[in-house]
Amino acid sequence: MSEAYDDSNVFAKILRGEIPAHKVYEDDATLAFMDIMPAVDGHTLIIPKHACRNLLDCPADVLAAVIATTQKVALAAQKAFLADGVTVQQFNEKAGGQEVFHLHFHVLPRQMGEHVRPLPRGFAEPKILAAHAESIRAALAEG
Ligand code: AMP
Repeated sequence: MSEAYDDSNVFAKILRGEIPAHKVYEDDATLAFMDIMPAVDGHTLIIPKHACRNLLDCPADVLAAVIATTQKVALAAQKAFLADGVTVQQFNEKAGGQEVFHLHFHVLPRQMGEHVRPLPRGFAEPKILAAHAESIRAALAEG
């Protein structure tokens, strides 16, 4: 069984503005920002503003908003990184591979044959994350 939502998680802190993030997109219901330990260049996370732990406790209307933003960001990341494809990942509970307990979808733009970086991954340079966020924002703005 899932535990209750705990608002001390790192993504809740990003939503409250208590810690910084390289944001790429925001609307009333969702936020997208760069993963701080990217599996590939352009690795972006999409979260709801609503407090839910993961897919298992998230209301359907919130999920719909998060998936719509995930598609928008996936298309922009594909364009920004001239990617051949995009991997979308989402993990539920510790046994399911989840580490941060606020619902999030991973978007990974991938070149043909490109492997994801192995775990454990290092922190990316803030300058590089800022540049990647800027290219995805530019692709979003172009539509
Ligand atoms: P998971 O819960 O397994 O789906 O993965 C959580 C993801 O959050 C990992 O890919 C981390 O690199 C990422 N992450 C952890 N802390 C931060 C942070 N402060 N900003 C951005 N991404 C983060």
